[in-house]
Amino acid sequence: MPAIVCIDSAKPPHYVETKIPMRFSRFADRYRQLTGTVQLMDDLGAARAATGPVYMLGGGNPAHIPEAEALFQSTLRELINDSVTFGRMVGEYDNPQGNNDFLNVLAALLRDRFGWPVTSANIAITNGSQSSFGLLFNALAGQFDDGTFRRILLPITPEYVGYSDVGLAEQNIFEGHRPDIERLPERQFKYRVNFDDLHIDDSYGAVCVSRPTNPTGNVITDGELKLLSERCQQAGIPLIIDGAYGVPFPGMIFTDATPLWDEHIILCLSLSKLGLPGLRTGIVIAQPELIELIRNANAINSLAPGRLGPELVTPLLRDGRLLRLCDDVIRPYYRDKVQHALAVIDSTMADLPVRVHRPEGALFLWLWFEGMPISSSELYQRLVKRGVYIIPGHHFYPGCEQDDWRHRHECIRVNYAAKDEAVEQGLAIIAEEVRRSFDT
Ligand code: PLP
Repeated sequence: MPAIVCIDSAKPPHYVETKIPMRFSRFADRYRQLTGTVQLMDDLGAARAATGPVYMLGGGNPAHIPEAEALFQSTLRELINDSVTFGRMVGEYDNPQGNNDFLNVLAALLRDRFGWPVTSANIAITNGSQSSFGLLFNALAGQFDDGTFRRILLPITPEYVGYSDVGLAEQNIFEGHRPDIERLPERQFKYRVNFDDLHIDDSYGAVCVSRPTNPTGNVITDGELKLLSERCQQAGIPLIIDGAYGVPFPGMIFTDATPLWDEHIILCLSLSKLGLPGLRTGIVIAQPELIELIRNANAINSLAPGRLGPELVTPLLRDGRLLRLCDDVIRPYYRDKVQHALAVIDSTMADLPVRVHRPEGALFLWLWFEGMPISSSELYQRLVKRGVYIIPGHHFYPGCEQDDWRHRHECIRVNYAAKDEAVEQGLAIIAEEVRRSFDT
């Protein structure tokens, strides 16, 4: 007999209660909690459904950039108009390692632009880089046959919230480290890797860093990256570089930063921040042995990765239009947006003890309200009541759960990719709420 379902109108529309109690295995536990990642993605939906004014400065959506969307739209139209390509694109599973043309074109680009010795055997496609990390972290960390338990070392936290929840092991697979804080002029600051506190050896499964970093907009320096890379190489463990906002695309980097790849480096890229998060395309550049593992996992878990992203982007990569878009449109667009957001902070928060992490890349401002009497989580609650969505800072500390560092509760992440008016109104409301917290 089919289960009788009733939909409770007081609960969110997706909440369905069954009359037959569900019995879940231990595997399901990890999907039954409201983690930071779930809150983040859920907020996007809740905000869309809200009736009052909403200032969406949470989430990780990139901006709708008209020139970028026009290019993607016209290219997609050409693909659709070509009935052979269209038929293949939607009517045939792709190769489990990813679209062949895409792999070859990208490998050629990486060789030409950066001189990296890569071929298509070094590249695999996934259904978004979030799923790349799920696979990589669980393949490189956790329980090993020799009885050891290896973790992923995060040399600088705050670090991307999406890593936190992907571990399948019963124990935490992350070890996060506090950075040094360098206080800079103009009420800015920058996190630096605290190498005195890092001992990299083969008891770790891998080291991972996002560059540019979500949530802070930090770009770890060439010197820091080189040292991390050397230490990993000496220890014989991989260094994972999350380049979701980096080069060659989308290129949201506002400082001089040299890209790095080597045989012990696993570089993860994504099409999302170009403006294509709906296409769910992630890219991993690594040793062939790891690429084969990803190919097999793709086949087992989803038969093949999605085809639309690679098919859309291949012609644009081949003739250089994609990289021109990054250089001429996307990077200048975000550079203007960040300057605007900084100016709004100057005008609305002049009287507050706020510091902004130097915005060197990505699409976020990381605001530090030193000595704030309420936690960033409480601030988040107060802001939601006023229609402003941000992400409270404490979510961005994978592997630091035991650390009682006050700083974790004094910071928030603001996405400045929203429309200027939303950024202005949202930051003004944040300023009011922070001021109120200091005044009472
Ligand atoms: N890495 C970082 C640093 C991110 O900010 C994100 C998304 O916001 C991802 C990875 C995942 O991106 P996607 O799964 O859309 O490729």
